[in-house]
Amino acid sequence: MVARHDLATDPGLQEELLQARRGTAFFARKLNELTDAELDAGTRLPGWTRRHVVAHVGYNARAIARLVEWAATGVETPMYASPEARNQEINFGATLSPIALRNLFDHSAVHLSVEWRDLPDANWANDVRTAQGRTVPASETVWMRTREVWIHAVDLDNGATFNDIPAPVLERLLKDITGAWKTRGTDAGLLVKVMGTAGNGAGLTFGDTTAADPTIITGALPAVVEWAAGRGNSGVTAAGPGAPTQEVPAAPAWI
Ligand code: ZN
Repeated sequence: MVARHDLATDPGLQEELLQARRGTAFFARKLNELTDAELDAGTRLPGWTRRHVVAHVGYNARAIARLVEWAATGVETPMYASPEARNQEINFGATLSPIALRNLFDHSAVHLSVEWRDLPDANWANDVRTAQGRTVPASETVWMRTREVWIHAVDLDNGATFNDIPAPVLERLLKDITGAWKTRGTDAGLLVKVMGTAGNGAGLTFGDTTAADPTIITGALPAVVEWAAGRGNSGVTAAGPGAPTQEVPAAPAWI
């Protein structure tokens, strides 16, 4: 007998699952607005058509489902056999017929949702390993998926913007990205400040908070995250050493 509702009882986790499923529904909506012919067009990711993005998001759901299965069974099942296998899979997926591509997205999303639904409370703390080699509790798979579906919905480039992404997701993204910079030391001399209204990340500061004379990137939360994720610099300004305003530098690499 399988459950019809999530077995997870932790309220925080339930909220995260909701955010992931909302993001999946949002991606589905943007995908369904596209005609089959429009799938051939480019995206906000260099070198990737919409076909690549849809294939990647579909295979990503399968890969994350493998981690949830690992947490359920204890049998180690990695996301991907190798980085090369991951890329080959995306390139293959991009050649599928439009109907097959759409089915890949739909079926993989449902499969992942069911794996989450049926994972018992106790198993959410089980360790699994991400494609980047990080060991994380199974609960982290929810966030891994959440950021994929929201950002790639924007990457589809048919009308979604970072303004469509819920503020809690944007804030966590910015923490992730700036945390990765800090780990690598690539944020030296770079200060990131979020402006705006309360509840939308206003007043948040990230990056090199100890620099004496940093380059300061400022903008509303969606614009700052868009810049930090390497998706453009409209809506942010840069100020810093020698000049009150200057050209906005490219953000350090994230992934
Ligand atoms: Zn991705």
